[in-house]
Amino acid sequence: MYAEVIVDIAHSNVDKIYEYSCGEDVKAGSRVKVPFGGRVVDGFIVGLSETSAYPPEKIKPLSYVYEEPPALVEECFSLMNELSARYRVPKAVCLRLFVPAEMRAGRVHEVYKKLVRLSGAEISVSKSAKKQAEFLTYLSDEGEAEYTLCCEKFGRGAVNAVVEKGGAELVKVKINRTPLAFEGREPPKQLTPAQLAALASIENSDKTVQLIHGVTGSGKTEIYLNVISRALEQGKTAIFLVPEISLTPQMFSQLKRRFGEKAAILHSGLSAGERFDEWWRLRTGEARIAIGARSAIFSPLENIGAIIIDEEHDSSYFSESAPRYSTIEVAEMRARRNGCKLILGSATPSVETYSRAVSGEYNLITLTQRINGRPLPHITIADMRREVRRGNNSAFSAALREELKDTLESGNQAIIFLNRRGYSHTVICQDCGYALKCEHCDVPLAYHSEEKCLKCHYCGARYRLPSACPECGGLHLRYGGTGTQRVVAELRELFPAARILRMDNDTTSGKEGHYKILKQFGEKKADILVGTQMIAKGHDFPSVTLVGILDADMSLHFSDYRAGERTFQLITQVSGRSGRAGEAGKVVLQTYSPDNYILRFAVNYDYIGFFKNEIALRKATQFPPFSLICRVMVTAEDDAPALEALKGVYFGAEDLRTANPQEFIFLNKMHSPIKKIQGRVRYQVLMRLQSARLLPRIYDLAVRCSNSSALVYVEENPVNLS
Ligand code: ADP
Ligand code: ZN
Repeated sequence: MYAEVIVDIAHSNVDKIYEYSCGEDVKAGSRVKVPFGGRVVDGFIVGLSETSAYPPEKIKPLSYVYEEPPALVEECFSLMNELSARYRVPKAVCLRLFVPAEMRAGRVHEVYKKLVRLSGAEISVSKSAKKQAEFLTYLSDEGEAEYTLCCEKFGRGAVNAVVEKGGAELVKVKINRTPLAFEGREPPKQLTPAQLAALASIENSDKTVQLIHGVTGSGKTEIYLNVISRALEQGKTAIFLVPEISLTPQMFSQLKRRFGEKAAILHSGLSAGERFDEWWRLRTGEARIAIGARSAIFSPLENIGAIIIDEEHDSSYFSESAPRYSTIEVAEMRARRNGCKLILGSATPSVETYSRAVSGEYNLITLTQRINGRPLPHITIADMRREVRRGNNSAFSAALREELKDTLESGNQAIIFLNRRGYSHTVICQDCGYALKCEHCDVPLAYHSEEKCLKCHYCGARYRLPSACPECGGLHLRYGGTGTQRVVAELRELFPAARILRMDNDTTSGKEGHYKILKQFGEKKADILVGTQMIAKGHDFPSVTLVGILDADMSLHFSDYRAGERTFQLITQVSGRSGRAGEAGKVVLQTYSPDNYILRFAVNYDYIGFFKNEIALRKATQFPPFSLICRVMVTAEDDAPALEALKGVYFGAEDLRTANPQEFIFLNKMHSPIKKIQGRVRYQVLMRLQSARLLPRIYDLAVRCSNSSALVYVEENPVNLS
């Protein structure tokens, strides 16, 4: 037999299939070690054949086949080819998506415990060997016991003697490191008519992609759980994706309580060992539901019966490293291969997704009511320009302060949202106007009051607080802008008795960091939760009756075509945290542009109004989905190789435009808005194209211009244009 092997080296020079001879019992998908250029390297068997085109004496045998079930499921092979062609990355890079990083590095292994088990064979034990007899009696009662424990109790000599005589045997048992155990099971809920109708619509639809557009609290989760149940009943498996699983412990506790051990969770908050074991539970079929963030779309499941993507509009579904895939696109590839449905859900679908639903490409299911008819929280706009005119320079409007007071007095909880961490986000010299910047990145530094230092939010570098301006020596440094730490400080002054929790990147480090904060808040051990967008997603806290949005328009002024969409989504999501149980909820939205039309639609929860307006705008200005924005990024340590590569990309793009003038709406080369990140300079060629027709050529161009000193890569409709 011959094994077709892809070596685990991420380089286009070795991006091909190599043949090795192997035994009959070798299986496709297995991890192997192979001789390669004088070394022994890791690889994967992606195919087997009886014959080879090469002369037999030229073919080397495999060095080693890992003793484990094949790591790759068969679907991986065709998916690998499709992804590699689509995103122009070596096949090895695609294969890496399918296995946990822990496995590749060989750093993590299964953990076993050694048991002694009664063999059932009669053995004779001499009278003088009292310990052996005691051990045998013990084992007859227990059936089996841990080897080390028995050795402690009866002595290693006695235990080994009994084993040698055949009275007991040693067995190795794999231990699963399972994350967070969840006590108790929760039965399915009685579905509402709207939920039943949604399920029927999914079942009866002949379309692969289903979009559930349901207001926050309309019971989408219960629909997903039912879809999963049906897949399991048919003997199939399911994938359930959420934007960032470590932020949504409630979601996975719910899944665990419904499906128990059948659900496996893959997320970054797990220890390497836990992730490794959860992954193997999926691969061996012990677990049949994969729950996780973006990367869980590559779960090693076969016979998939449903794929669910919750909060489908979330930008975390786009990968920001190679391959820069769209999770929805990959999910659709897998759904089609498995002949199953892909269910997208959101209260605020992306404009692109919703337009596909409206056009009939996706099946559209709409849920307009919250469960039990609870009203959506009332949103009040607080005009911060007026507050400033009145001399209020604090982070809180009078309206929000009033509402906070009421909420605290009535014993309810409040959430304060602000998408900036730290204390202030700039430090500016008032004498010369210089803003303190990171040495490695072209971004201003934020002041962190707890650590009393300046931090770069791009590379994490820390700097000591200067006593004077490094430019002019001036002593008047101003801390501009408000971050979560300053908000907490102000709240402590306003409401000294209130118990306040803060949730942002600085407070959530470590395993289960998010979980602990959310748990405390859920148990009402705090009155106010202040946080960044981490708190916007999915949480269901029944006692929260007030949400304050401090900087609603921050995202509005980004020079990004998605700015309006982002703002609408954010306001709706954050507001959705209020008034989920008994009492009606309230929201105070602070803004400097109270007349902005996006805010008007958001305040009325008018998604359709927002969408119609937005889609007309996009059409008139020829922005996606009526065009494709393509950015070719060039980064390098130094300017010279970056500019050289940039020239190559730009001239190549110009040639394409000359040959296909009708395809180009816009083409230019420039510095990226952030000129440097982590010591690498950044340039870009920005294109707006009529269609995706030239995309493969542009990927080719990027691969051609990339070299060892300049990295060149393509981004399609990038979520972040910085
Ligand atoms: P969404 O995901 O649409 O925001 P959820 O699934 O979180 O909404 O549902 C909102 C609330 O309604 C949750 O507390 C959930 O437990 C409850 N709920 C959902 N479906 C039902 C049902 N059929 N009967 C009773 N309560 C339900
Ligand atoms: Zn930096």
